Amino acid sequence: MKGFEYLQKELDAMQKQGIFRNLIELKSEQGSKVMIDGRNVIQLSSNNYLGLTNHPRLKKAALAAIEQFGAGTGSVRTIAGTFTMHNRLEEKLAKFKHTEAALVFQSGFTTNQGVLSAILTDEDVVISDELNHASIIDGIRLTKATRKVYQHVDMESLEQTLKETQEYRKRLIVTDGVFSMDGDIAPLPAIVELAEKYDALVMVDDAHGSGVLGENGRGTVNHFGLDGRVHIQVGTLSKAIGVLGGYVASTRTLIDYLIHKARPFLFSTSHPPAVTMACIEAVDVLLEEPERIDKLWNNTKFLKEGLNILGFNTGHSETPITPVIVGDEGLSRQFSDKLLQNGVFAQGIAFPTVAQGKARIRTIVTAQHSQDELQQALKAFENAGKELGII
Ligand SMILES: *Cc1c(COP(=O)(O)O)cnc(C)c1O
Repeated sequence: MKGFEYLQKELDAMQKQGIFRNLIELKSEQGSKVMIDGRNVIQLSSNNYLGLTNHPRLKKAALAAIEQFGAGTGSVRTIAGTFTMHNRLEEKLAKFKHTEAALVFQSGFTTNQGVLSAILTDEDVVISDELNHASIIDGIRLTKATRKVYQHVDMESLEQTLKETQEYRKRLIVTDGVFSMDGDIAPLPAIVELAEKYDALVMVDDAHGSGVLGENGRGTVNHFGLDGRVHIQVGTLSKAIGVLGGYVASTRTLIDYLIHKARPFLFSTSHPPAVTMACIEAVDVLLEEPERIDKLWNNTKFLKEGLNILGFNTGHSETPITPVIVGDEGLSRQFSDKLLQNGVFAQGIAFPTVAQGKARIRTIVTAQHSQDELQQALKAFENAGKELGII
């Protein structure tokens, strides 16, 4: 069919630059090892922090939900698609996050879009960390609010922006809790102090912090002892929780407002029973199996120390997200290919996802990895790193 020649031209150029990518197919469940191209390789690229994607309790809950309630819900939440289980999941999440209420969206991505576009107008200003996730950036694009960006985790830059924006009706500071490409943690105590000093609201997107930091994985806000001082907490059900979806935890007022105004909530069908019931089960697993989080952190320490001893640059990571920064885009790609030949799946990440010249392999260990697997992974990094002259 004719019509897309202009797009094909761009794709051809991407082929030439070596940045065109085929999607990598997994032929197994998501685990500490996965089947790629007929080989069983160590998985260091998933967000399956606690190994819940295939936890027997989640699978059982999902199957039982399908048997009793079917495959889909047949409506949006606000018309005929709210089942008891949806409200139950939200009550559970609110309790887990120590907030008055919570609201579930189809994904973490749409949660940010829904919240940011609903609560700000042209009388307001949104103040965003420069390395915030794409879904925050897109959410901000959907508001008529004035946009300000402060330098990454730079509190002087944030304070300066707060000083310059005193005339707006509302000011909303928004930040990732854990930054997804570097694994560093936002300085929430300082952000909250500034917000209180300048009477601003704070929104934390804890997609990579929930299930990882805080008591039983309650997230970065809880980790810093800031329960009750952060206005809006966004989380995902797709990473440590192991299933799919996003949520916002906040006051009753904000949640009631979003139920009436957040467009992805209003105009997109509710989660199917299997997803909802598996998420409920996952929260219970977090509460009942805290040893998974301990294992995650032990594995994190082991891999990070191993990489550092080998001489790799792992940047400012403080969490299970450990980047191995090589700089050059082409080199990062070769490194990733070599790792796969050595039995490790760890994706290279380059511009525009990270800054130019900051290309890297991004690793995420999970609670499912055995010491033996991590030892093998380190050996693969050593071999590939030496072959390419990185170490
Ligand atoms: C992954 C991620 C999201 C999106 O979550 P999904 O549930 O996968 O849509 C949002 N924010 C941040 C910071 C993320 O890392």
